Amino acid sequence: MDFASMTFPLTVDISGVQYWIGDEGPYKLGMAATEFLADGSDTETRKELEELLRTFGFLLSPFTDGYVAAGKRFDLSDHTVGCAVNYGYRPISGGAYFVERYTFTSLRDFLFVELGKAILNGNAPRQCRLCGRWFFHEKSDRTIYCDRVAPGEAERTCREVGARALFEKKIQNEDAWKIYKRAYKKYYARLMKGTMTQEEFKAWADEAAAERDKAIRQLQRENISEVLMAEIFGELRERLNRK
Ligand SMILES: [Zn+2]
Repeated sequence: MDFASMTFPLTVDISGVQYWIGDEGPYKLGMAATEFLADGSDTETRKELEELLRTFGFLLSPFTDGYVAAGKRFDLSDHTVGCAVNYGYRPISGGAYFVERYTFTSLRDFLFVELGKAILNGNAPRQCRLCGRWFFHEKSDRTIYCDRVAPGEAERTCREVGARALFEKKIQNEDAWKIYKRAYKKYYARLMKGTMTQEEFKAWADEAAAERDKAIRQLQRENISEVLMAEIFGELRERLNRK
């Protein structure tokens, strides 16, 4: 989207999550705000868009799970947009869309409405978990990584690198569970044979579960080295089997 060449007043036809700018389109709600945020310029408009996202982005649940809503200022009254709205038909091959026809007098007004409507419809700009750059996120799309080439990679995208990292974390967690299960079987056999009392077993099991969860938490850390990983597994094995 070429913001520099847009002329105002700007006519934008919106129908559901699609829209057209003059003769161009269809675009999807949220695309313009995403591109504007991604281009990196630090303007007043950018700050306003970020505030809108902070204030109402939690509506995009579950993608912003954990977003703290309590105590936030749910009021953007000082950001009011003044624009004309009418209704019309947008002809397409074989028919027409019934549209809301907005006339915006500034880029800021257009982007503010575009982002607000995107949030209402479940779309939004997201920041890539790996490279931190903004990318367009559509409703029901669960990805947390963008599809640009990842930092330090020749070809692989953040999405590919990120998916691999998530997969590896899952394997590591499973390995921690394996160590725990193996030890559990061993001590449970002792309980069955009567070489361990019920109380001893319960004490062991409580401690073992806590150690397992601690190890899994440690494995969750970003960029964990092979050496540290081996240490975590070694320590878990040792602590679970020392009685
Ligand atoms: Zn990325």
